[in-house]
Amino acid sequence: MRGVAGYNAALIGRSGGRARLETPALIVDADVMEASIARLAALAERAGMGLRPHAKSHKSVEIARRQLAAGALGIACAKTGELLALHAGGIDRLMLTAPVSHPGKIRRLAEAARTAEIIVVADREDLIDGFGAAAVAAGTRLEVLVDCDTGLGRTGVTDPGMAVSLARRITQTEGLIYAGVQAYNGKVQHIFDHRERRLANEATNARLVPMIEALRAEGLAPRIISGGGTGSHALDFEVGLLTEVQAGSYVFMDEGYLPTDLDGSGELVFPAALFVAVGVIAMSPAGEAITDAGSKSFALDGPLPTVFHQGRRIGRMEWAGDEFGRVKTDPGVPAPPIGAVLECTVPHCDPTVNLHDFLHVVHGSVLEAIWPVEGRGLSD
Ligand code: PLP
Ligand code: MN
Repeated sequence: MRGVAGYNAALIGRSGGRARLETPALIVDADVMEASIARLAALAERAGMGLRPHAKSHKSVEIARRQLAAGALGIACAKTGELLALHAGGIDRLMLTAPVSHPGKIRRLAEAARTAEIIVVADREDLIDGFGAAAVAAGTRLEVLVDCDTGLGRTGVTDPGMAVSLARRITQTEGLIYAGVQAYNGKVQHIFDHRERRLANEATNARLVPMIEALRAEGLAPRIISGGGTGSHALDFEVGLLTEVQAGSYVFMDEGYLPTDLDGSGELVFPAALFVAVGVIAMSPAGEAITDAGSKSFALDGPLPTVFHQGRRIGRMEWAGDEFGRVKTDPGVPAPPIGAVLECTVPHCDPTVNLHDFLHVVHGSVLEAIWPVEGRGLSD
């Protein structure tokens, strides 16, 4: 194992290992993660809906396995490289949630379908034709969803007639199985207030309903209607328009999501499971603890991390450069000493995980295991 993970491996199973980690180290609290996986699975089951957790957040074979063991229908992936990394690790029910264009990717997805269920999305005819030809050449079949745009303005068709014509083309293309639609309502996810989020979700659903009705009217009723995320999961389960939810961040959480009232209860539905352990390496002239982790260990596109020392919150971390952080302690809290190992929540979980080769799995004070982040860096 490269870097700190190689040194930290010696601490596995020893009591107090968590507090002695070499840093910067990405850590996941196994108890919190397992509870969140179980909680979302239970909510989906109660709603009679499916779950296809998004691996863009964790890029990890071990975590995908746990989500499947908890009843997930399959695993969603953002990129072909991420999907193939999970496939190589033995995950055999995979969905790619964005269209692709390069023939190499189309071919590799079709080839993966020899040993896995591969579901792809398409929002144009030439991509449907390309998937069909690649599946025939590989001697496989790809399941295809029509990608529908309900307001994100990114990928997908907006017109019900277009959705019908693409769905029909899928059914008529050798090598393909028409499986339904995808409609990811990305703009809804990060609305903090539950009532405002409900209104935004209703608006995106109102754009999806005519597409589904048009498909049904033409005998192309979608078996899968995939969408939603951590932010909208409670609404999606309540409304029941989708057949499955693609939540990703719930498994880790981050400062972008933690303050969000996810279900209107005002309670924390999914606590933070992901932290970066950082070490104090110096004291600034102003008496602040300077740490060994900045933008090369955290994705900075989110609110500042909360900092914990010995299990207690001590303040927030500000950025002090690519490799450095500055701890701003809460009033009355002394700066942690040089050598202290601090644990920080992350501004944004998905791109933070992508900065780390290994995930340190902790259980209480014990370092239980170190898992590779198989999809790390695979943004192709
Ligand atoms: N589905 C798609 C297509 C996404 O792009 C994302 C996140 O960007 C998700 C699902 C998961 O969203 P979240 O991490 O908010 O649960
Ligand atoms: Mn994200």
